[in-house]
Amino acid sequence: MSMFDKITIIGLGLIGSSIAHAARRGVLAKEISGHDASPAVLDRAGKIGFCDTLHADIGDCVEDAQLVILCAPVGAYKAIAEQIARNLAKGAILSDVGSVKGAVIRDVGPFVPQDVHFIPAHPIAGTEYSGPDAGFASLFDGRWAILTPVPGSDKQAVEKLKTFWQGLGSQVDVMDSSHHDLVLAITSHLPHLIAYNIVGTAHDLEKVTEGEVIKYSASGFRDFTRIAASDPTMWRDVFLNNRDAVLEVLGRFNEDLAQLQRAVRNGDGQTLFDWFTRTRAIRRAIVDIGQDTAAPNFGRKS
Ligand code: NAP
Repeated sequence: MSMFDKITIIGLGLIGSSIAHAARRGVLAKEISGHDASPAVLDRAGKIGFCDTLHADIGDCVEDAQLVILCAPVGAYKAIAEQIARNLAKGAILSDVGSVKGAVIRDVGPFVPQDVHFIPAHPIAGTEYSGPDAGFASLFDGRWAILTPVPGSDKQAVEKLKTFWQGLGSQVDVMDSSHHDLVLAITSHLPHLIAYNIVGTAHDLEKVTEGEVIKYSASGFRDFTRIAASDPTMWRDVFLNNRDAVLEVLGRFNEDLAQLQRAVRNGDGQTLFDWFTRTRAIRRAIVDIGQDTAAPNFGRKS
């Protein structure tokens, strides 16, 4: 038996289409309805067929849904919340997948009707691809999904959303939104900023090195280019909406970088060796808990 008669997904890109694929795989809803602001995406979603019903009108799409999940870029959430507020069914759960949580609560919270359960969420899963063709059913398998209920969130609704994410294949954690934003600033947002920076700097140097940056990219640089290929709209919105936490960890990062710079300048091999030994252990711990492959070079052949 399905958990929900109808769920609605707003924004049918990588994450939205993957939720639809995984919900269908797990038979979690009798009807999966979808909306996207882009007619081209709606058309493509219809051809792929991961939703049961597609709606050009966002209000029609959420009508009677017991679970509505916002899967558009975070910067669009406020306008979407304003548009759908009066169409949300009594007792429905309104959730999202945004990569930041404090800003989502700030932008969406004021529009949520009294009789709707607002429970923000964030799946820690993704790829550098976007759009409706990028989604796949196993994206969330074994990955974490973090729920950040707001004060007063209904416990039963939180449990129901937790069960839904488990049905999509995820492990689920529940935490406060500000803690989420700090943790993700260091584990996701800062690494993306560093990747965007190093690839941009290398591109500038490319003019000096005449193509060698790309030619010899396998020596480390290539891993940064994968991250730096991530969707520009999504990541612009992340940095605009998690500014304080990102600036806090960036300050700490700069201090540590200065320490490494000093060690290189002073020929302080012990500091470098100790540092690299500590970080290698972190990589091993990630592999040990099954969050990445132990295969050399991430299993790539070249
Ligand atoms: P995506 O592939 O670009 O999909 C987003 C979709 O939303 C696009 O089809 C976009 O259409 C559409 N859209 C934009 N504005 C809209 C609006 N006002 N109403 C309805 N649809 C709208 O992006 P994604 O990677 O799935 O990311 C979606 C959300 O997931 C973001 O909030 C992001 O923070 C979160 N997230 C992403 C990842 C990741 O790795 N990618 C991981 C976890 C969470 P257009 O393309 O025409 O603008």
